[in-house]
Amino acid sequence: MQHEQALVGLGANLGDAAATLRAALLELDALQGCSLLRVSGLWRSAPVDAGGPDYCNAVAELRCEHGAEELLRRMQHIESRHGRVRPQGVRNAPRTLDLDLLCFGELRLQLDRLTLPHPRMHERAFVLAPLAEIRPDWCLPDGEAIADALRRLREAGQQVQRIGPLDPRG
Ligand code: ATP
Ligand code: CA
Ligand code: CA
Repeated sequence: MQHEQALVGLGANLGDAAATLRAALLELDALQGCSLLRVSGLWRSAPVDAGGPDYCNAVAELRCEHGAEELLRRMQHIESRHGRVRPQGVRNAPRTLDLDLLCFGELRLQLDRLTLPHPRMHERAFVLAPLAEIRPDWCLPDGEAIADALRRLREAGQQVQRIGPLDPRG
């Protein structure tokens, strides 16, 4: 069976955010045709361009037998089950759970409902810091090393802090 390696960014800032991320990871692992390969630690970040509580963030690598659009649909079901709502016209609204598909193998896609790689991942320390833990060899599209990009974003004022382990599989 063909499969692809997918990177998923997880975020939450309402309710017991760390518990929600752990539950979501188990639900991703339990998706038929998907299995969790690697999970970053648990990170904390201040909201970007928005109010509300700090975020919990993480990145996970999945092995997936479905196509990218099917995986996103399943990820959105998991978000809904955790009470995700999208208030009309409010960007970056606080949320119980956000699952972004960061990359799906080498796939490049530009649809309204799915752009790959995720178009804003490279400017976000709350994505790159956990990603660097599981993929330290990662490079940005312009060839910049992930550690250099992260240093640059931190120097520009983005604050992210590792607060502990996360992998619910122990
Ligand atoms: P951002 O995309 O800047 O992180 P967000 O996560 O708050 O913002 P959402 O409200 O969760 O945005 O998603 C808005 C739309 O983005 C969704 O309807 C989804 O179809 C679309 N989308 C496009 N590309 C992606 C992707 N790579 N991962 C997840 N959603 C995507
Ligand atoms: Ca997002
Ligand atoms: Ca999202």
